[in-house]
Amino acid sequence: MATAVYLHIPFCAARCTYCDFLTFPETNPAARQSYLRALLGEMELWGQKLRAAGCEAATLYLGGGTPTVLTAGDLQRLLSSCRRLLPLALEVEWTVEANPCTLTQEKITVLAAGGVNRISLGIQDLCGERLALLGRRHSALQARQALLACKDYFPSVSADLMTALPGQTTAALLDTLAAVCDLGPHHLSLYGLQLEEGTALHAMVESGKVSLPDEDTALSMFTEAREYLLRRGFVHYEIANYALPGHYCRHNLTYWHNLPYVGLGLGAHSFWEGKRLANTRHLRQYKKELAAGKIPVAEILPITRRQEMEDTMMLGLRLRQGVSLQDFRRRFGRDLGDVFAGQLTRLQKLGLLACDGQYVRLTAAGLPVANAVIAEFISP
Ligand code: SF4
Repeated sequence: MATAVYLHIPFCAARCTYCDFLTFPETNPAARQSYLRALLGEMELWGQKLRAAGCEAATLYLGGGTPTVLTAGDLQRLLSSCRRLLPLALEVEWTVEANPCTLTQEKITVLAAGGVNRISLGIQDLCGERLALLGRRHSALQARQALLACKDYFPSVSADLMTALPGQTTAALLDTLAAVCDLGPHHLSLYGLQLEEGTALHAMVESGKVSLPDEDTALSMFTEAREYLLRRGFVHYEIANYALPGHYCRHNLTYWHNLPYVGLGLGAHSFWEGKRLANTRHLRQYKKELAAGKIPVAEILPITRRQEMEDTMMLGLRLRQGVSLQDFRRRFGRDLGDVFAGQLTRLQKLGLLACDGQYVRLTAAGLPVANAVIAEFISP
């Protein structure tokens, strides 16, 4: 049996103005060391569990936060601990998230030598003014240099970019896409800005200091970016993700197929043995429980059959391929068309969903309103 493993590194060089993730500004080395010790403890416990279940990690994803705020030495030790403690598949897809301002040549070399074969670079934009507004610590030049440097070391390089940003026009977005595509990434993630309460950017928008593009502009960005990337040879395989053939993110496909995965680290989530688990979000508690030899799970939510079917629709409809009727029947012993008959009829009539006899998927008209379509499959 294969699964996906995620490791959370909750440190960043500084907090970006739009971010509400569970991460802290880079702390002192002693705090980082004590977190890493606890994380290794959790890796040991999960490693034993996975081996006992005859399960290996087909994908391993180090995210955060910013894993590359760790020193080259810490990264090297972390990677070798992953190899030692976790049952990694021979052909493991091993991704590390990186921020261009924290990625040195030494760290790139350490990551590649340690077995990482996929890098996900947080570029977000190539406009210096907007990068500053977003609180990003890197320049456009650093982003370009990081992407080029990574291409020499990793067989798969992904870039994260953002849309619907303050002051961003569709033309500006297309210029950024053209410049990034010219650097030759294998994969692109295009996330529309979500304005989260409590963030510095939210306060700036509320006070009228900056304004966001209106809905029509955000929609035109999505549509024109999509058309542009298709012309550049990318496959649009998930609402926010594009890849050259052979470069889909296998780790994220596990989530979208609603298959089991294991999340390690502060606040990390797992879907394991029919339950959704969430680790504690409190650093002190996290370390305390691991010091006592316990996996620091704070929440356990058993998933009913019905919820699992709904989650399978909610996640699978994000994929352009859609949800496989055959896989659904094999997994649940029931026909998708019977379980969700009402939603399918209604949404097909509206032209938002299509079924070709093998898959149910969003239509081109359904794509821009994907969240509303997907919500139809979730019980109140
Ligand atoms: S680098 Fe990423 S995780 Fe860290 S503060 Fe910025 S957006 Fe959040």
